[in-house]
Amino acid sequence: MKKKLLIGFIVILIVLTCAVVLFYHKSAESYDSESEVEEEMTATEEPDPESAEQPQESTQPGETKMTTTNVKDTENFYGIEFTEDSEIFARIKGKSYKDDCTIPVSDLRYLHVLHVGFDGQTHEGEIICNKSIAEDLLEIFEALYEAEYPIEKIKLVDEYNAEDEASMADNNSSCFNFRFISHTTKVSNHGAGLAIDINPLYNPYVKTVDGALSIEPANGAPYVDRSADFPYKIDENDLAYQLFTAHGFTWGGAWTSSKDYQHFEKAD
Ligand SMILES: [Zn+2]
Repeated sequence: MKKKLLIGFIVILIVLTCAVVLFYHKSAESYDSESEVEEEMTATEEPDPESAEQPQESTQPGETKMTTTNVKDTENFYGIEFTEDSEIFARIKGKSYKDDCTIPVSDLRYLHVLHVGFDGQTHEGEIICNKSIAEDLLEIFEALYEAEYPIEKIKLVDEYNAEDEASMADNNSSCFNFRFISHTTKVSNHGAGLAIDINPLYNPYVKTVDGALSIEPANGAPYVDRSADFPYKIDENDLAYQLFTAHGFTWGGAWTSSKDYQHFEKAD
């Protein structure tokens, strides 16, 4: 009887031992697979240098990077020559590049610049201009950026459906927008990409039309009085004024018949 009890006890002990061993083995296995999953997750988080997205080529079909000789940082400040089958042209066709545009696409350049916004942060800017002022603009905008000169927005006017008033009212700085001077067949300087407007909301275009004051943009009225003190005001002491005039541009704020404080142009 005692012997049977002992055998029974041993059997129970063996079964228990087996159970314990099996349990540890199982939990060790599941621990392993958990850590494998963890490893896999970390692997997907960390970019694999081999498969990592390479920086996009800055030029697409129909686009050729301008060869610049005197622009220091061509990685961020560069110009692109583009054709009618380029993505750039698709963005401006029928908008700033209107159907009756008399300026050949080959005369235009797309510029990529950086600027410091009103938030103090670095932003990317896009400009379409005439090739004759492309180098000037790249140098000027790089100098403005280095000086942390605040420019709120530098988007293509096409993002406002090429509507000047909408672009100006949004304080967007822009250059090319094809148009003739009213009642003439002469292309305006913006129409030829030879004029650029900077922070237009704070630097409105003011003129008298039929005895009444015209302000463009209309919401720039608080900034018509140039003796008042307010930020982003372009005057002779302003760095943008100094850089543009040093590059041979004339300032609309110096005009006598009207005042276009946002405007710099370099006509042939
Ligand atoms: Zn202008």
